[in-house]
Amino acid sequence: MKNLKREDLKVYRIIKNEEKRQEEGLEMIASENYVSRAVLEALGNVFTNKYSEGYPGHRYYGGQEFADAVESLAIKRAKKLFGAEHVNVQPLSGAPANMIAYSAVLKPGDKVLGMDLSHGGHLTHGHPVTFSAKIYNFVRYKTGADGKINYRELEKMAIQEKPKLILAGFSAYTRQLDYRKFQTIAKKVGAITMIDIAHIAGLIAGKAIENPVPYFDIITTTTHKTLRGPRGGMIMCKKKFATAIDKAVFPGFQGGPHINTIAALAVALGEAQKNDFRKYARQILKNAKVLEQELKKYGFKIMFGGTDNHMLLLDVFGSKGVSGREAEIALDKIGISVNKNVIPDDKRKPLDPSGIRIGVSAITTRKMKEKEIRKIADWINRAIENYRDSRKLTKIREEVKTLCRLFPLYR
Ligand SMILES: *Cc1c(COP(=O)(O)O)cnc(C)c1O
Repeated sequence: MKNLKREDLKVYRIIKNEEKRQEEGLEMIASENYVSRAVLEALGNVFTNKYSEGYPGHRYYGGQEFADAVESLAIKRAKKLFGAEHVNVQPLSGAPANMIAYSAVLKPGDKVLGMDLSHGGHLTHGHPVTFSAKIYNFVRYKTGADGKINYRELEKMAIQEKPKLILAGFSAYTRQLDYRKFQTIAKKVGAITMIDIAHIAGLIAGKAIENPVPYFDIITTTTHKTLRGPRGGMIMCKKKFATAIDKAVFPGFQGGPHINTIAALAVALGEAQKNDFRKYARQILKNAKVLEQELKKYGFKIMFGGTDNHMLLLDVFGSKGVSGREAEIALDKIGISVNKNVIPDDKRKPLDPSGIRIGVSAITTRKMKEKEIRKIADWINRAIENYRDSRKLTKIREEVKTLCRLFPLYR
């Protein structure tokens, strides 16, 4: 970054500080990851200068030879990787991708059956604070007492509510969904099916968990979580919905696509086709399982009974008497980033809930395995149990730094 350093030392220094922060800490926020150097390089390129409204072969400005080439390549790779009939790589991120998908198939006032936020769903699945909740009529299903989705209840709700769209997908639920059940229930009530795979796209691409793409009409995702690409969104769908989705993206919602991001996405999708990525996805599942077992041993209550993916939701208040906010702060002090999170039907408030959510996808990118996970589980337990003891926390912080030095990121 020698030009940046010369031209704007302030911004250069901030970026350098962030680089150091990422190097010296353990990133365990479940929605984060570290992209490869190749993806980073592809992200900063001259395509940021280019306007490319429209789609490959049908653009509104000239000079699209190479924009077409790179967008077509990203689409081709995504189709192959996920077995999708149609792919749109232009959504700027996950939240807009969902908004766009709703608008493609729903009219204002139409009903959507989605997962309750406190049970693992995402804000964009109908939380009252969002714009989509002002336009569409969201009703919500929850997980049962055993922590799993009760499909018989879901079916009853679907028959009663007759939604136009049934929505699956989550950002804090940790179990494998039964895709076929969603399909069967939707068929019974004549609903369109949509799944938001923002969190698990990388596990699907790496063939570590079952692929929902064949079972759903519309699939939305982010590209920067387990998929390990640049920040962005994607919508996949059955041929039947292709025109509606493309029109909803542009001109429905967006203007010019960020072709530089799409170039970096093409690189990430290329990486995801490789055998190394499959190993990575399988290692994520192994690491999450070991973390689950270790934390259970330390007496943590794991929501939904455990995990089938890359993350865990812990009831820290119920198990250790420490709130989610206090746990997040304690872990921050030892250099482990996580986020406080509500647990199903949480009695505490969202800003100071009962839980924390922990993910292993970023540290698995750093090549950490079972052995390191055991150490990390011990640190998490010690930090939470001693959350008021800054001497103990400072000591653990040094141990975390030492481990991080053994697993360098971009150096
Ligand atoms: C992260 C996430 C989103 C939002 O993605 P952004 O890129 O932050 O807009 C949408 N849906 C789910 C399920 C997510 O986990």
